[in-house]
Amino acid sequence: MAEGIDVISFGAGEPDFNTPEPICKAAIDAINQGFTKYTPSAGIPELRKAVVNKLENENGLKYTPEQVVVSCGAKHSVYNTMQVLLDPGDEVILIAPYWMTYADQVRLAGGVPVVVAASSESGFIPEYDDLKAAVTNRTKAIIVNSPSNPTGAVLPRETLKQIAALALKYSLWVVSDEIYEHLLYDGEKHTSLASLGSGIFDQTITINGCSKSYAMTGWRIGYAAAPLPIAKAMSNFQDQVTSNPTSFVQKGAVAALNLPASSMEAMRVEFEARRDLIHSLLTAIPGVKMQKPKGAFYAFPDISAYLGKDLQTDADLATYLLDEAKVATVPGSVFEGSGHIRLSYATSRSDIEKGVARIAEALKRIA
Ligand code: PLP
Repeated sequence: MAEGIDVISFGAGEPDFNTPEPICKAAIDAINQGFTKYTPSAGIPELRKAVVNKLENENGLKYTPEQVVVSCGAKHSVYNTMQVLLDPGDEVILIAPYWMTYADQVRLAGGVPVVVAASSESGFIPEYDDLKAAVTNRTKAIIVNSPSNPTGAVLPRETLKQIAALALKYSLWVVSDEIYEHLLYDGEKHTSLASLGSGIFDQTITINGCSKSYAMTGWRIGYAAAPLPIAKAMSNFQDQVTSNPTSFVQKGAVAALNLPASSMEAMRVEFEARRDLIHSLLTAIPGVKMQKPKGAFYAFPDISAYLGKDLQTDADLATYLLDEAKVATVPGSVFEGSGHIRLSYATSRSDIEKGVARIAEALKRIA
């Protein structure tokens, strides 16, 4: 920190790995070759084709390049999607705890977030009946994020099928944010929602990007793949707002998508080891409850046993941990997951050990 205080941060939502060298080289070569002008707004044909190939080979999805819109990060893709899908007053179902950006982006498009809570006891898997009960004649879409930020939950194929059935029954769009798809543990396999049948394929906007899978958060490349009219509307919208994502960065993204699948395996393996470590350390603290997350790089323990005396809310607890233990966490209520805190384990094993030991010590003092 600027004041020289030794704070251990579990706050970061980004891999602590360097972007692989071939990706950097492709972008540097592009600059040196003068690839520094405007490109088509929805991305260079080479990159849209690389996305099409990736979605076909890894996800079993058959899109055409015209159905792919490359943008400045998956966050930008979600924004484009909301702007294009929603009319004022349209409702969008969010499964809580959820990435807080979704609610704000729904509101920015004039929409209304409708929250369906998934319990920590269920491993943050939503119940079909709860989702169904949230549908009204204003429901336009449901956002699905598996693996999840902030819980690390991976929705079982059965749950994805239920969501698809619900979307088909009520003619809803599904926005499937698959940004953490490569960060899966215990042999879990990713299922793309749009791959569950041709009906749901036609009602799904698949969102992904390079940030988390290739340690490219600062590069700002994400993409959406969607039915043609939606993709065209997003491309037109982006054309008037940002134009293209940075030209030479797109060349880096082509290199990333063309890397052999094995090239990021070491990062995934390291995240899995850290997941095991943080899970065992946190659950050894009396009263702290959590299931082992199956994906992403977040732990989302239930710390409610420590609330109700001096500290009333998870936000109070996060402040206490920062002040007293010099450990930065994110309060669960930010994600509508009150009674929890989020810890990103995109940090070294030694910091995980040191940081969780500090948390344990600080919690002992208020037990
Ligand atoms: N979706 C989720 C669930 C995220 O957690 C994040 C980043 O934290 C993003 C999307 C944004 O990714 P990008 O860096 O591609 O904008």
